[in-house]
Amino acid sequence: MESLRSLTSFGVTKTETMSKLRIAIQKSGRLYDDSISLLKECGIELRNVKDRLKTESDNFPLEVFFLRDDDIPQYVEDGVADIGIVGQNVLYEKCKETEIIERLDFGKCRLALAINKNEEYVANYLQGKKIATSYPILLQKYLDENKITAEIHEISGSVEIAPGIGLADVICDLVSSGSTLFMNGLKEVETVLESQAVLVRNKDLNEEQLKWVDKLLFRIRSVKKAKRNKYILLNAPNNQLPRIFELLPGMRSPTVLPLAEEGWSSVHSVLSEDEFWEKIEQLKAAGAQGILVVPIEKMII
Ligand code: ATP
Ligand code: MG
Repeated sequence: MESLRSLTSFGVTKTETMSKLRIAIQKSGRLYDDSISLLKECGIELRNVKDRLKTESDNFPLEVFFLRDDDIPQYVEDGVADIGIVGQNVLYEKCKETEIIERLDFGKCRLALAINKNEEYVANYLQGKKIATSYPILLQKYLDENKITAEIHEISGSVEIAPGIGLADVICDLVSSGSTLFMNGLKEVETVLESQAVLVRNKDLNEEQLKWVDKLLFRIRSVKKAKRNKYILLNAPNNQLPRIFELLPGMRSPTVLPLAEEGWSSVHSVLSEDEFWEKIEQLKAAGAQGILVVPIEKMII
């Protein structure tokens, strides 16, 4: 427990005491930048991140531990960290008792099986093969589910070179674009797991810790929602407004302002990224002009 100095903006008085929430994130690697950016986008300023062992925030009761991603599930299970950001691939491989509280939309990849690109991938191809992987638990589960008997060779890194040096016939490794496989003369044949970074929490947090996890989650969700949406402004002739409203329902309903030119209005609304291009075409067809699309920083509904 420690006293907090400057948390008045979060409804915490200067004299109130509380424990800081401890979050474990990757020390360096593919999840590091996105994890730090997410905290920043949530308005959490961190002191001296370069130190990379641990740091804390002055404007949110958060202490950040920088760890190897493999260790994060264990630290969160043990309660050394209260929450953590880790890939589902690592989380499921480690089989630790934690609870996923949010998918974070970054670190997207898949654990996939790949074979020599010149081989034909026929039915029962995997039966009796040697498969190199850093994910023996997830691979064994996949093999069991698909009633395949194969030999698993566990290696800790550079899995993609295993077929080239005669260590294995098949590999089971993380893939995002597939370029590493391609460079090593391999082709992807099966997906074992679709993965992304997730926020996990220790199962036994106290009420106070849960309160701060909720506050953090609220911010994370606002940032995620904002990323999936755009703010759109356009001009349209008044006789086309009913059609434009149909296309742009907005959060409650669109904002409409009259233009100086008689018979025209400016319409402001929010548009989801998924339907963006389709809607723009339809809006143009409905007579919309001067369409402006701008990013949204936070979205609170
Ligand atoms: P550490 O030193 O922390 O153990 P690492 O080398 O095991 O790091 P990274 O290569 O930095 O791990 O990857 C971290 C996570 O990023 C992976 O576990 C996975 O969830 C995600 N990821 C996303 N795309 C890829 C990819 N193409 N290859 C590997 N991991 C990816
Ligand atoms: Mg690792």
